This record gives sequence, C-alpha cells and structure tokens, in this order.
Amino acid sequence: MNPFRYERASDASGAVALLAQAPNGAFLGGGTNLVDHMRLGVRQPDLLVDITHLPYDRIEPLPDGGVRLGATGRGGDMAADRTLRQRYPVLVQALLAGASAQLRNLATLGGNLLQRTRCVYFQDVTKPCNKRMPGSGCSAREGYHRELAILGASEACIATHPSDFAVALAALDAVVRVQGPSGERTIPLVDFHRLPGDEPQRDTVLEHGDLITAVDLPPLPFAVHSRYRKVRDTASYSFALVSVAAALDVADGTVRDVRLALGGVAHKPWRAWKAEAALRGASATEEAFGRAADAELADAQPLPGNAFKVPLARNTIVRTLLDLTEETHS
Ligand SMILES: Cc1cc2nc3c(=O)[nH]c(=O)nc-3n(C[C@H](O)[C@H](O)[C@H](O)COP(=O)(O)OP(=O)(O)OC[C@H]3O[C@@H](n4cnc5c(N)ncnc54)[C@H](O)[C@@H]3O)c2cc1C
Ligand code: SF4
Repeated sequence: MNPFRYERASDASGAVALLAQAPNGAFLGGGTNLVDHMRLGVRQPDLLVDITHLPYDRIEPLPDGGVRLGATGRGGDMAADRTLRQRYPVLVQALLAGASAQLRNLATLGGNLLQRTRCVYFQDVTKPCNKRMPGSGCSAREGYHRELAILGASEACIATHPSDFAVALAALDAVVRVQGPSGERTIPLVDFHRLPGDEPQRDTVLEHGDLITAVDLPPLPFAVHSRYRKVRDTASYSFALVSVAAALDVADGTVRDVRLALGGVAHKPWRAWKAEAALRGASATEEAFGRAADAELADAQPLPGNAFKVPLARNTIVRTLLDLTEETHS
C-alpha cells in the first residue's frame, strides 16, 4: 500500500475544502471498499479525509412526511430503525441482504452508494479494464460474464453496480443531497449513477470533492407494501445476480400504482419504467406481471455467460409482485 496522509474532518465545508486541494485524495467512510482497493492497488489516494465524525449519522423526519437518512449512518443502524422497518420495508430488506452484520456495522450509506463494481477484472490490476484504466480494454467482454450486465451496457464496459441499498432507493424515488466545492445540490437517485457509455471510469455524476451528506426518502404511503428479493449464488456474502425492489398498490384486483427497480443487471440501479407503465391500471395477475417484465426486458442484450439472467429477472419480478399482491389481501 502506498503512503498516504490522513485527516479527520470536523465539518462538511472543511472536508470538501481538504479534498478540493488534493486531486488524488478520497473521502473515507467505513473503508470497507476503499481500503480493500488500496490493498489491491486498484486505488492509490495520497490523502484520506475521514468523514465518519461529521454529524450526518441521523435518521430524521422531513416536513413533507418523508425521511432523511444521514450519509455517515451505518447500515446496521438503518436496518434496525423502527420507522424504516414500518414504512419502507424494501429498504431494510435490501440492507439486510447485503454483506455481513460486521460489514453493515461499519459501512456507511454514502460509501454504499459509491462502492465500485465487483467485476473481477476491475479488481485485478494485471488485467486490462477500461473502468480502472481508461482506454486499456475490457477483459470481461471475452472473459467471464456471469455477474455482468444485460441492460444498458456499452462496448467499453459491461459491469454491474453492486449495491442492494441503491436499488431500493431507486424504486423509492430517493434524492441524494450533495455538498461540493460550489455549494449544495440535490440529485434524484435514478440520475445519480451513470450508464458506462464511453466513460466507464465515471460511476456517478459526482465531481471530485463532492460530499454526499444525506439521502431523502419521499413519503410514499403504499411503500408499507414493498419488498426486496435478491437472487445470488450463495446466501452469505454474494452480490446479486438479479434483484428486484418493488412497492405495490393494489385495489379491487387492479394495480393503482407501483415502483419497480432491478439490481445486478446494469451499470446502475435499473428503474423499470417500462414495466411500471405496463402495470398501472392492469389486473394484478401473474399474466399481467409477466407481460410487464417482458416489456422491460425486451431490450436486454445478454452475453453467452449471463443469458440466464433474462428469465431469472422475469421470474423474480413476477414472484415479487405476486407476493406483494398476496400481502395486500391479507
Ligand atoms: C465481503 C463483502 C461483501 C459485501 N456484500 C455486499 C452486498 O451483498 N450488497 C451490497 O450492497 N454491498 C455489499 N458489500 C459492500 C459494502 O456494503 C460496501 O463495502 C460499503 O457499503 C462501502 O461503505 P463504506 O462506508 O465502507 O465505504 P468506503 O469504503 O469508506 O468508501 C467507498 C467509496 O465511497 C466514497 N465515499 C464514502 N462516503 C462518502 C460520502 N459521504 N461522500 C462522498 N464519497 C464518499 C469513498 O471515497 C470511496 O470512494 C460487501 C462488502 C464486502 C467487503
Ligand atoms: S466490464 Fe467494465 S469493469 Fe469489467 S473489465 Fe470490462 S471495463 Fe473493466
């Protein structure tokens, strides 16, 4: 590991100012992803600005009825929060489906959103990878693609985004609050992560020195009927092959409203806009759920090693929506 400087920030503007002067510096949350990458040689920051002592670890009600999640809040604390458990079960289930209890007790919300892809070639510094070293090539294209993308990929990169939490936040229309060198701004979670295009090195729309301070959840009363279903190779520690975050509002057998997002299929949490449009006003039946899933997955471009993800995503969407339909009747 290369030598680096360590600074502990006491307020957000100080943290942003410290990083603005260090083009190769990084914020340090729980360190569960960043420190691994420093050990592997994937990243070599010369300054770490520790932000875990900033006052952003609270879960607070918002005047509009929504909830603000502080960016340095730990996954374990958020998963145990009574309000989140009652009002946004999809979020808590997504948290509990990720990593281990020990990791969740260390990992922060901000770090979770900014964790890097688990594409094996990205983490192996001996292999070409456009995301780690722009222009060097993509080893995954002709290599191992079981975990990789079926939607929204590019010639340059077919990686997937690994976060479970971000998929639930995408379904809930969450908004990311950012403080940067030129002030504060908000970014809808669905616009926060990028598709790879020809700049796969950029995972998000953030600029250097931008600090995530919080994520706001809008009030969404029907999210009490929401669910996260994650399909993975092993129940401990594995990232999603496919995951589904859904909230469903059914009345008299008809879908009044729905929120649907997919994980494990794209470079960003994939909001299933086409499926949602097909579902609103449709009968809450297995056939209608299947048609909606087909509409979303019509654009899928799988590779030989991950073609199984298309039927897997379809089945996972249908099963999750059926479970929620049964729940609203009970
Ligand atoms: C074995 C293992 C299994 C895992 N399994 C899963 C899983 O199944 N699902 C899942 O979702 N996750 C999983 N994780 C990922 C884990 O959740 C992430 O490592 C963690 O969320 C990163 O949070 P952190 O606070 O440790 O981030 P750090 O490692 O501290 O930081 C990650 C990145 O975010 C930046 N950063 C951190 N906070 C901020 C901020 N507030 N503003 C701006 N930049 C910031 C850092 O500079 C860095 O670039 C797993 C991790 C491990 C090691
Ligand atoms: S898929 Fe993306 S992250 Fe993986 S090797 Fe190719 S460029 Fe790198």
